[in-house]
Amino acid sequence: MASKTIAEIVKSTLGPRGMDKMLLARYDRLIVTNDGATILDEMDVKHPAAKMMAELAKTQHQEVGDGTTTAVVTAAELLKKAEVLLDQNIHPTVIVHGFKMAVEQATKMLDELSVKVNLEDREVLKKIAITSMCGKGIEAAKDHFAEISIRAVKQAAEKRGDGYFVDIDDIQLVKRVGKSLNDTELIQGVIVNDRGVVNPEMPKYVRNAKVALIKFPLERALARQRPGYGGEITIRDPYQMKAFVGAESEIIQKIVDKIKKAGANVLMCGSRIDEKAQHILENLGIMAVQQVKDSTMEKLSRATRGKIVKDPMDITDKDLGSCGVVEERKFGNDKMVFVQECEEPKSVSIFIRAGLERLADEIERVLRDSISVIANVYMKDKIVAGGGAIEAELAKRVRKYARKVVGREQLAVEAFADALEAIPRTLCENAGLDPIDILVDLRASHEDKNGVWQGVDVFNGGIVDMMKKGVIEPLRVKELAIKSAVEAASVILRVDDVILAPESKPSKGTSHRAPG
Ligand code: ADP
Ligand code: MG
Repeated sequence: MASKTIAEIVKSTLGPRGMDKMLLARYDRLIVTNDGATILDEMDVKHPAAKMMAELAKTQHQEVGDGTTTAVVTAAELLKKAEVLLDQNIHPTVIVHGFKMAVEQATKMLDELSVKVNLEDREVLKKIAITSMCGKGIEAAKDHFAEISIRAVKQAAEKRGDGYFVDIDDIQLVKRVGKSLNDTELIQGVIVNDRGVVNPEMPKYVRNAKVALIKFPLERALARQRPGYGGEITIRDPYQMKAFVGAESEIIQKIVDKIKKAGANVLMCGSRIDEKAQHILENLGIMAVQQVKDSTMEKLSRATRGKIVKDPMDITDKDLGSCGVVEERKFGNDKMVFVQECEEPKSVSIFIRAGLERLADEIERVLRDSISVIANVYMKDKIVAGGGAIEAELAKRVRKYARKVVGREQLAVEAFADALEAIPRTLCENAGLDPIDILVDLRASHEDKNGVWQGVDVFNGGIVDMMKKGVIEPLRVKELAIKSAVEAASVILRVDDVILAPESKPSKGTSHRAPG
């Protein structure tokens, strides 16, 4: 019951004609989203079975970045079908076993049905990106976003053996309210998004930048150079004090000279930069940013190919990173430093612009999805057609397989096949089409051997060839959605009792925090 309630909530967001949800989340944040994972993440779910579903969405989101709603809707449908079997006195373990047999077959069939893509084929990649963005309220900018996503993934992809590996964390998403969606840009490098140049007198724009990446405070090197390092020094009179301070300035000068001598014109420092040092840097015309986060430092290193140096006294020209331009940009009161035009950077950024904060937030989620799907095809270059086509075809094939299954498991295998059809059905429902008529047509068209990719035409009604229509999705997304749906449903089916600690009493079904 609880799991089904969860599915009911996200169901209406599925597909290009799905609706959005408006959530009043923790700390009174207002969120408007079409993303299943976000909805479940922000909801205050208490019931353990409902939590399972939320976790399912989260795993799907983390692993492949898309297909979260699909996974949840499929899992709930599996449970619904299982309920019917339970009523017929079929034991849960038999159902679970049948589901397992079915999903094994389905995985094999998926692989056979999938089509290999050529990663050089931009048009196909673009269609994949656009399919993932369908219905997210950004129609006007989807071509632009698709282009950006493809370029970003291509840049971040790393060749490993015969294939590619993409860590989507190498694509930084930074958003700022202002301008319009189409001003969203790909930065070939890194955005230091919470800092400006440390001193207003320093240059704000450096061309042909040589970037020194220093992790620790310059003073640390200073301490080491200082007379009496490691011990104490006793100062007895003002002259000694003056001499000491003088010596300190001299050492700071030495350290900054070292950075300058290495050829740096930009300094990114992981900690604070002492005022004296700032002054010397300023005089030498070096742009400096202080307190750069560790994670940003690593990105800078991947983008500029510079080395993160621990002790500035050791720095040489070989440690420096390079890029076309480093520039401070100002947005209202915020300053950000753009390290851009890097050559072949392994870490890139997308600078998101939108007129409204909530829109910018949603764009971030949409871009995450489209980057993920492209990354998925880079990692496994196989695709299937969406719009319910792959589910309808799998359902047909699994049904055929069911006939060969002996024992009561056969019923569970059939139930699994029926559950897959929840996707085309929901796409119809959300588009305001009659699901019964369309599912009948869909089944009939899949009987034809050329009907493999027939799916729901949510815009005009009826059924069309989704492959031809360009509604395509990575194999990895579909495969994981089905597998994890079965896993989640199986876990819930095996449970015969929910026992709660005294303080965590759930309300019936799911519990939502009432707004206000
Ligand atoms: P999920 O969280 O599961 O990714 P989405 O809301 O992104 O949910 O919807 C994905 C579903 O919408 C997939 O089944 C996909 O094939 C389908 N879809 C996407 N674009 C189209 C389209 N143009 N026509 C029909 N179905 C589409
Ligand atoms: Mg999606």
